[in-house]
Amino acid sequence: MDLGIRGKKAIVCAASKGLGRACAISLAREGVDLVITARGAEALEATASEIRAKYQVNVTTVVGDISTEEGRAAALAACPAPDILVNNCGGPPPGDFRDWQREDWIKAIDSNMLTPIFLIKSVVDGMIGRKFGRIVNITSASVKSPIPHLGMSNGARAGLTGFVAGLARQVAKHNVTINGLLPGPFNTDRIRNSSLAMAVKAGKTMEEALADMGKNNPAGRIGDPAEFGEACAFLCGAQAGFIVGQNLVMDGGNFNSSMG
Ligand code: NAP
Repeated sequence: MDLGIRGKKAIVCAASKGLGRACAISLAREGVDLVITARGAEALEATASEIRAKYQVNVTTVVGDISTEEGRAAALAACPAPDILVNNCGGPPPGDFRDWQREDWIKAIDSNMLTPIFLIKSVVDGMIGRKFGRIVNITSASVKSPIPHLGMSNGARAGLTGFVAGLARQVAKHNVTINGLLPGPFNTDRIRNSSLAMAVKAGKTMEEALADMGKNNPAGRIGDPAEFGEACAFLCGAQAGFIVGQNLVMDGGNFNSSMG
């Protein structure tokens, strides 16, 4: 299926690795020119080179922390009028809310709520004027089904989701859509360096740890980032203009519910 977005321009935030990278790859395959960001230059350049070589699209790298004003300004300077914006950023740390100070919360809210909101603010009116815009916010399955030790993630991402629910319905008539993609467990560095690393430390191989993590999931496995990228590209496609303000959980069916 041709998604009808060849030649469009996208900003994909936090895209040197993991889910952001997978979204960038799927968009590039559809012929979308990219600005991709991350704090570390090395992995970002490696991802950009790989995408250029495989898909012959323009890929501009912007090194910076997207949760800062400077980081966002640099991304927007490289692509002031994107047709597509994929919001992504590192997630807040786990812990006990009794230990979190105001600064910890502000950091989480900055990264996972205000950063996407300010990027949306910067690009949405241009999208409205051009009568095309696709915005995808990478959040977490924890928005629907809170994870107890990830309280800051549950809270900040739910705040973004609530704001977007209202805005998405104000901009949809201009063929600008805003949707959330809510990952459950995916095989990225983040998972390999946290939950899986603990299992490996306890004596398991990475393959055993991965299999253990997936065995209670209805799909019998954890997700492949490429699957996430494909869903993102579909939501960014020309045909997806009637999908508005939705929150698509991608967790292999782990969230147990009869509907939605
Ligand atoms: P990952 O594999 O660790 O990749 C994170 C990417 O984001 C890297 O490219 C990283 O590069 C970049 N990044 C992180 N913080 C950044 C910042 N402040 N500014 C710019 N770039 C930044 O993580 P992931 O698994 O893809 O996770 C992506 C998001 O989905 C996170 O918010 C995570 O909490 C959420 N999530 C993931 C899962 C999962 O199973 N993987 C499940 C639920 C939610 P640099 O470090 O070089 O900046």
